[in-house]
Amino acid sequence: MSAEFHLLHTGYVGPETDEGLRVGSTVAFMRQGDALVIVDPGLVPARTSILEPLADLGVGPEEITDVVFSHQHIDHTLNAALFPAARFHDFAAIYQDDLWTDVDAEGHHLAEDIWLIKTPGHTVEDISTVIRTTDGLVVCTHAWWFEGGPVEDPYAPDKAMLDRSRERILGLEPRLVVPGHGAPFSP
Ligand SMILES: [Zn+2]
Ligand SMILES: [Zn+2]
Repeated sequence: MSAEFHLLHTGYVGPETDEGLRVGSTVAFMRQGDALVIVDPGLVPARTSILEPLADLGVGPEEITDVVFSHQHIDHTLNAALFPAARFHDFAAIYQDDLWTDVDAEGHHLAEDIWLIKTPGHTVEDISTVIRTTDGLVVCTHAWWFEGGPVEDPYAPDKAMLDRSRERILGLEPRLVVPGHGAPFSP
């Protein structure tokens, strides 16, 4: 068994303009069986930046069953409401409509080959999504913003904590790391 992984939008930080900073979230889609999952539907140039690549896969937003927030910074959550039928997952709970269910994200499976792990560092509440594909593991994570960095995350409250999470992720020997604001890379 394995899950399917698709990149929907490649994130970025910058450029800084007269109007403000351009920030994009890396948005991903994965599916296995009945589970259709979006990770980090945050800042994008337009909603179509998420919906069009999803439509190209034959998937409508109302079909999405689960949305994962790597952490709760607005640049990774703003477009959550595009998915009216989804359950929303963070490090400690699942939210749907007005229902708040405490669930520890560590080891929580959304499908047989799609699961969450706690990877504190960028914030103490960060989680990563692990996908077992036919070619190997893919990990969506904000432990990196983009390939190679930043070496020292300016938001990290505890650098050693982030280092441990990065080591844990690399220890899974993923074929692909999908960072918060950049293109997927092979570690
Ligand atoms: Zn953040
Ligand atoms: Zn971010």
